[in-house]
Amino acid sequence: MLLDKVISKIKNYQKFLLMIHEEPDGDTLAATVAMYLVLKELGKQAWMVCKDSIPKPFLFLPEVKRIQKDILFGDFEVIIIIDCGDLRRTGFAERLKKFSRVHKNLINIDHHPKNDLWKIANFNLTDQKVSSASEIVWRLIKKLEVNINRNIATAILTGIYTDTGGFKHSNTSPETLRVSSELLNYGARLKEITKNVSLNKSISSLKLWGVALSRIHKNKNLQIVSSVITRKDLEECGATYYDLAGVVNLMNSIPDSKATILFFETPEGQIRASLRTEKDNVDVSRIAKLFGGGGHKKAAGFTIPADLKLNGNGWEIALK
Ligand code: 5GP
Ligand code: MN
Repeated sequence: MLLDKVISKIKNYQKFLLMIHEEPDGDTLAATVAMYLVLKELGKQAWMVCKDSIPKPFLFLPEVKRIQKDILFGDFEVIIIIDCGDLRRTGFAERLKKFSRVHKNLINIDHHPKNDLWKIANFNLTDQKVSSASEIVWRLIKKLEVNINRNIATAILTGIYTDTGGFKHSNTSPETLRVSSELLNYGARLKEITKNVSLNKSISSLKLWGVALSRIHKNKNLQIVSSVITRKDLEECGATYYDLAGVVNLMNSIPDSKATILFFETPEGQIRASLRTEKDNVDVSRIAKLFGGGGHKKAAGFTIPADLKLNGNGWEIALK
């Protein structure tokens, strides 16, 4: 069985690199931190890498300060990629291709639909039916028969909590709640999670949400709700685009809309789009894929080289 193969890799090797996806969210970060803590419990050497900075709400997670922005791959025996969605999102595509060719120990742990990462990974421990990559990592941890401390349980519960939108999304299965209950029994600190992830908004962040909400527009033909945030808005509110995390879910609470899209300018001169839907017959990952992105049926995203411009007809996406 695949899970057993991954377990024997973990048991038989010493030097691990854990990889977090770019623009990291709670699932990729928390599942990786949990895996890091488990590897340390097992007496292994482990490092964590993420191309981008860690958003403030997740700085409470144990060991996040150890996450490096870059690292040489040569020394590692096993690389584990968690929740990455596609190869580009790892931020280290070329180096990963080489690693999997040479070392044959690239493990992909994910709950996204099949993608180009599956082709280069040597082991795909994947399950599209689970709420989060954290749920898969939990299965692995349970089978590893390691001592599970409160930090490990808190990290896994953080991943589940964020990817289910605080148990509100339809990816919350009976198994998700069973695992969450088990995690609480292991001492997971739910209050610490809600406090940091949901109840920790700065004034600049709320002002920015206000701007996004004030610009909400509904396209009557397509039944799509959208809004925009520019770099100038970020400056004027004294916020960063990380402060936008969550606003698209609030915009998506309009009952008769088919989908919701938030467009925002990134510091790198691109536009990022965050897509959401609550409708079972809409798959927003298909829209995201048209623009080189991807994701899940109900939450997806893409990035394009463009700016937002305001003209007489409203906001326009000016491609570069
Ligand atoms: P968010 O809107 O929160 O940034 O992203 C929602 C979900 O869409 C993520 O959990 C991820 O699965 C997916 N996603 C966002 N951006 C991208 C992208 O550029 N490429 C791919 N493959 N998936 C993305
Ligand atoms: Mn995820």
